[in-house]
Amino acid sequence: MSLLMELLVAQDIGYHIDGRWLLREVSLSLSAGEVVALVGPNGAGKSTLLSLLAGDLTPCNGIIQLCGKPLHQMSALAQAQRRAVLRQQVALTLPFTVLEVALMGRAPYLHRRAECEEDRIIAQEALARTETALFADRPLPTLSGGEQARVHMARVLAQTTPILLLDEPTAALDLRHQHRVLRLTRQLADQGGAALIVLHDVNLAALYADRVGVMHQGCLRAIGKPWDVLRADLLSDVYGVSIIVQPHPQVAAPLVLSLPEGTERSGYTYVVEVR
Ligand code: ADP
Ligand code: MG
Repeated sequence: MSLLMELLVAQDIGYHIDGRWLLREVSLSLSAGEVVALVGPNGAGKSTLLSLLAGDLTPCNGIIQLCGKPLHQMSALAQAQRRAVLRQQVALTLPFTVLEVALMGRAPYLHRRAECEEDRIIAQEALARTETALFADRPLPTLSGGEQARVHMARVLAQTTPILLLDEPTAALDLRHQHRVLRLTRQLADQGGAALIVLHDVNLAALYADRVGVMHQGCLRAIGKPWDVLRADLLSDVYGVSIIVQPHPQVAAPLVLSLPEGTERSGYTYVVEVR
């Protein structure tokens, strides 16, 4: 892969707080055309890594480059025109309407006042893509949690950046909308963009990601193609539950199944411990 194709590169980045390392020696790149998923247990460092890549935190070690330039040398505006970020917690309790929230995604372009109407059209299109256009005039806090999450996804899409950094974008969504969000990121990648997505559902990662990174205790334990990384031994170790991995019956992807506590892996069958 040519260097020019690498939209985002992190080299040996580390981050500590109060003497505790939250992230150690993590290297990863995001190339044009790629969807990369990050999985791993609670507290593994996934959001910390995303915040570093988004420029919200500054790494204690290592280098981050966005579109070939050191991130710390870029203005907030220059960053916002290249990458959009969906944070895990979005603190927005004021009664902005849904359309106003989507328009916030246009903030990096507000200097182009003449194109206000264009901004409105882009925001409305983004709402349509997340099936939230029918809520356009409703105050955001009156929507359900999942509907609000889709509006925030629309805000991120309205930013029209080649790079998306999404922290658990599917956590509050029903099955259909989980697939929709991942298909939207797939489409962006197919058009030459790239997305890095923190996901809890390893099966969604297997279905949509070109590469999957597994994080554990502040380290990137593995990164690669789903079949190479989503291995029963690694996942069982990282998550601390028994896991089996099978070929998906319908598509060319691994299917990861976790077993109830008290069961042990045994090939493709499992055995319940009798006490
Ligand atoms: P993940 O997103 O993988 O669940 P995080 O990146 O949010 O995990 O957090 C990684 C670890 O760092 C967790 O143990 C968390 O408690 C800790 N952590 C995150 N932010 C801070 C902070 N500001 N101060 C102290 N510890 C933190
Ligand atoms: Mg997190």
